[in-house]
Amino acid sequence: MNKQAPPVKKNDQLRVTIQDLTHEGAGVAKVNGYTLFVPKALPGEEVDIKVVKVNKGYGFARVMNIEEESPHRVEPPCTIYERCGGCQMQHMSYDGQLLFKQKQVKDVLERIGGLRSVPVHPTIGMSEPWRYRNKAQVPIGEEGGLVIGGFYQERSHTIIDTDKCLIQAEESDDAVHLIKRLANEYGIRAYDEKKHRGTLRHVVTRKGYETDELMVILVTRGKELPHKQKLLDAITKKLPNVKSIVQNINIKRTNVIFGDETNVLWGEEYIYDYIGDIKFAISARSFFQVNPEQTKVLYDKALEYANLTGDEIVIDAYCGIGTISLFLAQQAKHVYGVEIVPDAIADAKRNASLNGIENVDFAVGEAEKVMPWWYAQGIRPEVIVVDPPRKGCDQALLETILSMKPDRVVYVSCNPATLARDLKILEEGGYETKEVQPVDMFPQSTHVECVSVLELKKI
Ligand code: SAH
Repeated sequence: MNKQAPPVKKNDQLRVTIQDLTHEGAGVAKVNGYTLFVPKALPGEEVDIKVVKVNKGYGFARVMNIEEESPHRVEPPCTIYERCGGCQMQHMSYDGQLLFKQKQVKDVLERIGGLRSVPVHPTIGMSEPWRYRNKAQVPIGEEGGLVIGGFYQERSHTIIDTDKCLIQAEESDDAVHLIKRLANEYGIRAYDEKKHRGTLRHVVTRKGYETDELMVILVTRGKELPHKQKLLDAITKKLPNVKSIVQNINIKRTNVIFGDETNVLWGEEYIYDYIGDIKFAISARSFFQVNPEQTKVLYDKALEYANLTGDEIVIDAYCGIGTISLFLAQQAKHVYGVEIVPDAIADAKRNASLNGIENVDFAVGEAEKVMPWWYAQGIRPEVIVVDPPRKGCDQALLETILSMKPDRVVYVSCNPATLARDLKILEEGGYETKEVQPVDMFPQSTHVECVSVLELKKI
């Protein structure tokens, strides 16, 4: 740590060269060894900055002028990019984003896991890195007496009215635009979170990418939805792909979008989508991966790494709605999935029978408790797949893996830092990380998903 006083003061203006990017996508500059974070600046750029905050070990600065641009700098196509905060990387070319994500994974594996020689492949991106999200959750408000909706301004609760989000499905933009127009026409009031009054809180849309089916969810403060029939008639007339219109009632003063009660107003309770050949039923509240195209890429890789012949017993820990389990079951003898959320397991079971897949068992519970119990029952998997939340695998779960000694562990991760920590533990327990494949599930953002494979070292 730098013991001296920081070499810059607030409001200082200076020219720096950007050396790196943080995992949040901010540029990193050094002034006499002191770190300055410079949002929206790219590596290699020479920028004039103004210091906005000085802490002991690091500070923040704002770009005033770009003297020398990175070859990866592009004009963000979205008009509200600077205000929205939903995307962080639109000012960087897509190739640049993919390189940045690969480097980030490599650096973190080295720094946290001490894994210097593990190959980290180039990030697999999308051929069209826009309009990929299958779920939009749009807050509704009022401005000058008009119903508006769009996005919260970065770090605030002010709604910016917008009709276009370039990472959402176009049908979603159409649906939100239509509902705002109808609300204004029929005098349906938006929810006012300060006074806890009004009706319409959020419009949520879900789309099946393979099936083109659309679900529209109106989140309201109470049961009452004025002009309901007219609204339903207009939505079904104007949005030909809509298969389901649902009302969710959220009576609470809260930032949480959904309330406890959900009623189908028109059409089906579920829409459907496919990942590969497997069909999934999606209800208003179901968890489902938001980028189905890249989910297939990720899970195909996981399947390849699992290297199944049809004879293997496989455990899918943190299985969610069983997406990976069902993928694996096509090529395994039997798959055991475990997940902590009961609704997700109900979906997993429904999806298994929807696809006529019988060689799977799903259990509700903490993976770190259920797996030792399976072990005690004599279950000896050849392959274990884990896909934990951001905080990574529980220590007890890693220990169970080490006592179960599967031939291979396939680790799917949404956080390279915890991936690195856990790989290190597995390496110390006798496994070797063969390779790591980053997959871009969230183009234009800084998120990176990885799949990696470890093999038990032969002694
Ligand atoms: N592969 C899954 C998604 C995994 S996301 C799918 O495609 O559906 C991580 C999952 O881990 C979440 O569903 C979360 O509910 C679950 N989870 C979190 N902590 C857990 C624990 N201790 N034991 C089991 N599951 C857990």
